[in-house]
Amino acid sequence: MELLKKTAVELHDALRKKEISALELTKASIERIEKLDNTLGTFNSLTLDKAIETAKKVDEKIAKKEELPYLAGIPTALKDNMNYKGSKTTCSSKILENFVSPYSATITEKLEQNLIPILGKTNLDEFAMGSSNENSAFRNVKNPYNLNKVPGGSSGGSAASVSASMVTLSLGSDTGGSIRLPASFCGIVGFKPTYGRVSRYGLVAFASSLDQIGPFSKTIEDSARLYEAIAGYDPKDSTSLNLEVGDISSTLKKDIKGLKVGVIKELMSEGTSEDVKNAINNAIETYKKLGAQIVDISLPLLKHSIGVYYIVATAEASSNLARFDGVRYGYRAADCENLLEMYTKTRAQGFGPEVKRRIMLGTYALSSGYYDAYYKKAQQLRRLISNDFTEAFKKVDILISPTCPTTAFDLNSKANNPLEMYLTDIATISSNLAGTPALSMPIGFDKDSMPIGLQVIAKRLDEKTLLQASYALEQELGVYTNRPSI
Ligand code: GLN
Repeated sequence: MELLKKTAVELHDALRKKEISALELTKASIERIEKLDNTLGTFNSLTLDKAIETAKKVDEKIAKKEELPYLAGIPTALKDNMNYKGSKTTCSSKILENFVSPYSATITEKLEQNLIPILGKTNLDEFAMGSSNENSAFRNVKNPYNLNKVPGGSSGGSAASVSASMVTLSLGSDTGGSIRLPASFCGIVGFKPTYGRVSRYGLVAFASSLDQIGPFSKTIEDSARLYEAIAGYDPKDSTSLNLEVGDISSTLKKDIKGLKVGVIKELMSEGTSEDVKNAINNAIETYKKLGAQIVDISLPLLKHSIGVYYIVATAEASSNLARFDGVRYGYRAADCENLLEMYTKTRAQGFGPEVKRRIMLGTYALSSGYYDAYYKKAQQLRRLISNDFTEAFKKVDILISPTCPTTAFDLNSKANNPLEMYLTDIATISSNLAGTPALSMPIGFDKDSMPIGLQVIAKRLDEKTLLQASYALEQELGVYTNRPSI
């Protein structure tokens, strides 16, 4: 366990100095997964044989003193909406319960090229729709800090497995906050890069104009390293950016004197818990101590982001999920008289209630006669929200806010109230609408010892400043060393 508490950077050193072997490390990770998975509900499936094979390759290369990619040998997990050839991709849905991927996502190939052992596929809200991981068709994920609380969603399994040191790193997808929210609830770093930075080829699409893949880790530096391994142009994803990713880790530790930090006013008002506000204020004071300049920033249209998101995201989801028809993928209902009955029964039996709600909402928003009133209006507002960010970044280098107005809530406390659940994403959604990079990092704990996350946002393509600013704060606060006692 002590071994697994280490960061990827520390493990990188230990592997090079031969204090441990990659095989030992992967086996330690397997043992820990076997010990905790039933309690935490983290994994949908495991890919242990392949992980061991990769670890052995790393050890052979170390023995031969061959060059190795930085993260070679570091135990990692994939959210179960990313394809890994020959293993299941279920999206935590009954409709894909037995679907085996015929190919690997670009992200998976990149992990393999970097000789990163992939331990398995993590639990999520069905098709990544949710904020608490309670929408999984299989089982709930529990928060490693308190088993009665949610881990956040939709990448709950990816966040909990890193928080509980079952794996060192994992990948999530973020459409409206699904990396940042669970990172915040589980006391780790979760980083959503600029839209288009990381290929989504082989990620099961939810809302294609918003989806982005990114890392979970214990520290900012680990996330920077994983980002460097996975980012970059991919001709297989038409939204992938053909731009240099740049060298992020070598400039990470630069001091931030003179950095202009904007505090988003609207997210520090009523609705945000006192404990969360206090932790943010402490982060602000720490930034001042580090020589940064604090500026109040108003994003007046932010309050509309949830409304806009639930039109755009559901419209795109209704179209993306049309492919699950009983013919092309996964589950097909039995005993149907004709094609229409087969479609209807398959989808009625295969999708869970939240997914059905989104499909209906999205189909309605796109239907003729309503398109202009809803979808077109939402797109116009989306542009205005994005413009607010552009204006803000003329005045500041980064923006900060709580990742969520509260810490992790109790299991079953919001599951029957979709609107209340949707409101947990008030701080995160706008970065997806605007395409900006954003991350959540641990900055403290509330009175019940639950982690509090700070959201840091930078302008599009400026991952470098985002990570520098976050790293400086992380090192000064020192909260990142705290781990749940599980
Ligand atoms: N919670 C949001 C939703 O349910 C965001 C999900 C995500 O980012 N995948 O849509």
